[in-house]
Amino acid sequence: MNAVILSIGDELVLGQSVDTNSAFLSGRLAELGLMTLYHQTVADDRAAITAAVQQACAAAEVVIISGGLGPTQDDLTRQAVADAMSVQLVLDEAALKTIAAFFTRRGRTMSDSNRVQAMHPVGTTMLANSAGTAPGIKGQLNRATFYVVPGVPREMQVMFQEHILPDLTRGACIGAAILTAKVNTFGLGESSVGELLGDLMRRDRNPVVGTTVAGGVVSVRLRCAMADPDRASKALEATRAEVERHLGAYVFGRQETDLPQATVDLLRQRRITLATAESCTGGLIGKFITDVPGSSNVFLGGWTAYSNHMKVQQLGVPSDLIEVHGAVSGPVARAMAAGAISRSGAGLGVSITGIAGPEGGSPEKPVGTIWVGLAAGGEPVDTARAVRLNLAGLDRQLLRDRAAKTVLQLIRFHLLNVPFDRIQWVVKD
Ligand code: ATP
Ligand code: MG
Repeated sequence: MNAVILSIGDELVLGQSVDTNSAFLSGRLAELGLMTLYHQTVADDRAAITAAVQQACAAAEVVIISGGLGPTQDDLTRQAVADAMSVQLVLDEAALKTIAAFFTRRGRTMSDSNRVQAMHPVGTTMLANSAGTAPGIKGQLNRATFYVVPGVPREMQVMFQEHILPDLTRGACIGAAILTAKVNTFGLGESSVGELLGDLMRRDRNPVVGTTVAGGVVSVRLRCAMADPDRASKALEATRAEVERHLGAYVFGRQETDLPQATVDLLRQRRITLATAESCTGGLIGKFITDVPGSSNVFLGGWTAYSNHMKVQQLGVPSDLIEVHGAVSGPVARAMAAGAISRSGAGLGVSITGIAGPEGGSPEKPVGTIWVGLAAGGEPVDTARAVRLNLAGLDRQLLRDRAAKTVLQLIRFHLLNVPFDRIQWVVKD
């Protein structure tokens, strides 16, 4: 199944703004298994848009056109689409009312030029725009179902979500419902995830299962194409359950859930508060956690204790511990975590201390050696746990990112009673 994406606007062909809509749309279509044949950017020129629409609708089953639906003289997309279909524009009374109401709500008067936004080519339907004034248009030309949506990226995205995606998942355009799902994991490399999935990744199965990696997170993508949407939905659900069973605790969430969100959710479920004591990540763990709205329910705060002095002064790490074992060591990681608890009253304290490089490594403690400590509130200090990570080979930025995410997954493993050394870069002692 093929798609073509058209972007309309002088500002795009003049290089004044960059066409991000096509990249967004192609990405979303690819997730659904639709191949985009080409992108085309066209100036605000009625004849040029008409020609582009005709060509696109002869080439693909799905055509998405963004831009040029505005009320001004240079917004010509709806006229050009009517030309391509050899029909006139008609006024849609309901759409006109909706546009007028939009202006009333904002205490503004609608100008006459806005009337044109309620017009659409005969034989097409209008698509409500919940994010702006201009409705979209949906129609049929040659073998294609085409959609015209506003150029404003946010409006375009809302229209995709509310109108185009549901059509595609119902099989309305191409005779097959396409459903997708995503299962996100952390703690294994992509090839190991592939091995655990085994036959689930066979290319000839439906739903088809594949993996992608971004920022150390390995996501398993599922795609099901079947004529009957109900059957597709059941098959997708069954395969997702299989995937989750094979990957167990590595799975932290579905769809767009990220690791900080999953960690905060689990802490919230368990009603456990958290405090952090960070050395080599310099506050990154706290940053990740506070990225999540509502994290104040579980996150009390933390220390960026970079120097030995701060580790001793702020977290109460015994200085002889640092002298004997070094700042990057299990005993110091444990003492930092315990200090974070005793000084904050949190239910769980985590710490991290390591060598992020590029300098500072030694034969015994090469760059990439990281210690993570975890201490539970109300328990004796000597029950605090520490694990060593080996993140050798990553540059400073990546290493800190991976280390901070590993701490989040270790928090989850701790709460779920999963052995820490399931994480591939935790060193087994
Ligand atoms: P409106 O009713 O809001 O005027 P419109 O369909 O006429 O909608 P345009 O006037 O073409 O939209 O574009 C509105 C804004 O969106 C402009 O700032 C433009 O640069 C931006 N825009 C348009 N098309 C794209 C695109 N393909 N990628 C990124 N930005 C875009
Ligand atoms: Mg425009």
